[in-house]
Amino acid sequence: MSHKILIVEDNENNRCLFRDILSFHGYQISVAADGQEGVALARELQPDLILMDIQMPGMDGMTAAGILKKDPLTSGLKIVAVTSFAMRGDKEKIMAAGFEGYLSKPISTRELPGLVKRWLEDHL
Ligand SMILES: [Mg+2]
Repeated sequence: MSHKILIVEDNENNRCLFRDILSFHGYQISVAADGQEGVALARELQPDLILMDIQMPGMDGMTAAGILKKDPLTSGLKIVAVTSFAMRGDKEKIMAAGFEGYLSKPISTRELPGLVKRWLEDHL
């Protein structure tokens, strides 16, 4: 069975781009447009990997990941932060928040499938 990936991203273009690339590589993709929807879908679907945008209106990615990591139902899910923050120290802050990985925007469409495969194979 193919892996389930949940994409949480408020920008529709990015959301579609991620979905199209990863669907093409055979993954089962679900999408959410904000943190709140992302948390609800993560609980329901128990995806193998969550790609979580950090900057979103409403509930942001840091808050959503914090909720998932505190809940025993979802604390074992792998969450990768997707961010366009260019500020120094952000990567450290994000990794300290419990994310398993970090992806900077703009995304390299050529590299994304390989990175996703590596995160899925990592036994963390
Ligand atoms: Mg965003």
